[in-house]
Amino acid sequence: MTYKIIILFTLLTSSLLSAQVSVSSNEVKNANTVLVTLKEKDINNPKLTFDKHNIKFFEYPNKIDTYYALIPVSYYKKLGNYRIIISYIKNDKKIFKGINIKVVDGKYKSETINVAKGKVSLSKKNKKRTKKEYASAMKIYNTTTDIFYIKDKSIKPINSDITSSFGKKRVYNGSLKSYHSGTDFKASVGTPIKAINDGIVVISEDRFYAGNSIVINHGQGIYSCYFHLSSMNYKSGDYIKKGEIVGLSGSTGRVTGPHLHFSFRVHGIQVDPLQLMKLLNNF
Ligand SMILES: [Zn+2]
Repeated sequence: MTYKIIILFTLLTSSLLSAQVSVSSNEVKNANTVLVTLKEKDINNPKLTFDKHNIKFFEYPNKIDTYYALIPVSYYKKLGNYRIIISYIKNDKKIFKGINIKVVDGKYKSETINVAKGKVSLSKKNKKRTKKEYASAMKIYNTTTDIFYIKDKSIKPINSDITSSFGKKRVYNGSLKSYHSGTDFKASVGTPIKAINDGIVVISEDRFYAGNSIVINHGQGIYSCYFHLSSMNYKSGDYIKKGEIVGLSGSTGRVTGPHLHFSFRVHGIQVDPLQLMKLLNNF
């Protein structure tokens, strides 16, 4: 009798102690981020694969024996079902786990822009400049640092109305050319813009499209971006704390008027900034 109870108890505890894998949501909109959590003792080399992309697991801040990974789903991701594969080493054995997620249509609104032919094309010099700026920014966005700088909950860069939401499809002369890659906040020239959390400033320069730009590396593949500023308070390499003023809003770069364009990159991919902040604030 006692023997049976012991067996039952062992079975119960071992199932309770076995790995727990969870996702923030089984359904994700394109250009949103999924949080994957893995809870398991004494493991090595936790890894995640999503649609042939390897994504790094990191130790979950403030949680023992727990790891997290952020999957940024690109705006142009094919809709449908995907399987996330998680693997790790435990007691010299490689263990695999799978979770299904479905990528659904974010149903972003579209805006039609009609421009005269020739107006959208750039001069040779500017083409060269934008190409160079894009390449150097992408190199930064694709860099993953192991330190996690984010402390506590993130704050909004400015408390004002959203004038253009993330993801709006941009249809130029009838064809889908791009989408709105950030959230626009109403901001007259000279309004203080706050860092949403701690990090290292990695871009502080005047760029062709984005104008005066500040980009903060929050660590572990997460970058926040503040564009079209009239002035910048930090240089590349500076440590910045949550709530400190990155600079003042403006209308530099290719814009029609002053505002703050606020965006995020996760593992190099542009995602809805407000959805990601919500996800991080529930950590
Ligand atoms: Zn914008």
